[in-house]
Amino acid sequence: MKDTVLIVEDETDVVDLIRYNLNKAGFSVLIATDGQAGLSMARESRPDAIVLDLMLPGLDGRSICKALKKSPETEPIPILMLTARGESAERIEGLEIGADDYMTKPFSPRELVLRLKALMRRVRTNPDTEDIGVAPFHINKSTFEIRLEDRRLELTTIEFKLLTLMIERRGRILSRDTLLQDVWGYQNAIDTRTVDTHMRRLREKLGTHASRLETIRGEGYRFNTLSDS
Ligand code: CA
Repeated sequence: MKDTVLIVEDETDVVDLIRYNLNKAGFSVLIATDGQAGLSMARESRPDAIVLDLMLPGLDGRSICKALKKSPETEPIPILMLTARGESAERIEGLEIGADDYMTKPFSPRELVLRLKALMRRVRTNPDTEDIGVAPFHINKSTFEIRLEDRRLELTTIEFKLLTLMIERRGRILSRDTLLQDVWGYQNAIDTRTVDTHMRRLREKLGTHASRLETIRGEGYRFNTLSDS
């Protein structure tokens, strides 16, 4: 059976573009052009994935996303949020309310299809609780794997532990002593520069997402939930 993708989008040219590419890639497509219809359709037909526009007539994408992620029946359905260029605040909120990924318009339809496939694969291969998704990061604790967008990060064991801990406690400031204790297992702080060295290497591996690992002067480090550039 074909996988079904629900498109919730009010701009018909965008709908046509996505539909064409999804059909070509072998998906069945459902379409809703306003928020209320989108939400009902998602609940009734439980598609394999949803492409959700942020700005919609009626109910906006944010409310739809929240509603779907709150209910256990629809929570696992991956949501790819579409935002207009310049909606950076909204874009970030999109991730915080539980969208699994986002793309900014204008986007490459080919990339959209690839990302949807990746999202659906994740849901299927990782049904366990060992799984943490903080888009665009995705941690699998049972395989010690962290993916960033769709790239597997090559990490040492310490780097894996460090990044996992930072993501699990995202938004909070973690002191070097705390990190030494919880990541390295040191009871007495030895040289806290160890943390800085590893943090630097980790940032290099994160590339354009390096700024998610923030240095808080005089205090420690924080995995930033707000910026993504
Ligand atoms: Ca729109």
